[in-house]
Amino acid sequence: MNNRASVLLVEDEQHLHEALKLNLELEGYTVTSAYDGNDALKKITEAYFDLIIMDIMLPELDGISITENLRIHNNDVPVLMLSAKNSPADKVLGLRKGADDYLTKPFDLEELLIRVEKLIEKNKKIQVKEAVGDQYTFGDNIINFKAQDAITWNKQTIQLSKKEALLLKLLIENKGEVVTREKILQVVWGYNVYPTTRTIDNFILSFRKYFEKDSRNPRYFHSVRGVGYRFVSQ
Ligand code: CA
Repeated sequence: MNNRASVLLVEDEQHLHEALKLNLELEGYTVTSAYDGNDALKKITEAYFDLIIMDIMLPELDGISITENLRIHNNDVPVLMLSAKNSPADKVLGLRKGADDYLTKPFDLEELLIRVEKLIEKNKKIQVKEAVGDQYTFGDNIINFKAQDAITWNKQTIQLSKKEALLLKLLIENKGEVVTREKILQVVWGYNVYPTTRTIDNFILSFRKYFEKDSRNPRYFHSVRGVGYRFVSQ
């Protein structure tokens, strides 16, 4: 598997947890473990995951509440819910509260692995938005992604760092939409890092300095408090 996908495994049954972890790792996934609800929530806020496998019945905080919490915070990580319950009502509740898929215990391991793969693939496809070419113009600014430089509205030619170019590209590809901090860290930094808002904020401040006529009243680069950033043009 190219570019190892990261999975958060939230399951309190020790044996099942270990068996799932081992099998996921054999498939090439990087697995982070959580054995109770609070631990799961903590890990979710600390790092980006490509998928969460979420048991429902957990100590401290149940899987449905965690998923609900994620969605309220605009975190759209795919969630595959696991449950010992098999009443249709629970399934509906789980899906309504934001799960993407659902498996009832006991389940077939092979089936779980296929669903995991499909959910991760599907999410990747959604994430790849309209591709931006080598050059992009907004206002009087021109960015050349290939050369990693830009000509700014006041006719300055500036060199961009690789991360600056990547972040600009990501924001521009998602023009008009909020790009979450988690996604930025995953795409630009490329691995599980512990997000600090300040790191990305500093990049955005630089972009405003380069590309905004009035950096205090940004026209193109907007922060959405507690969520992420949005590039707007026109
Ligand atoms: Ca359980």
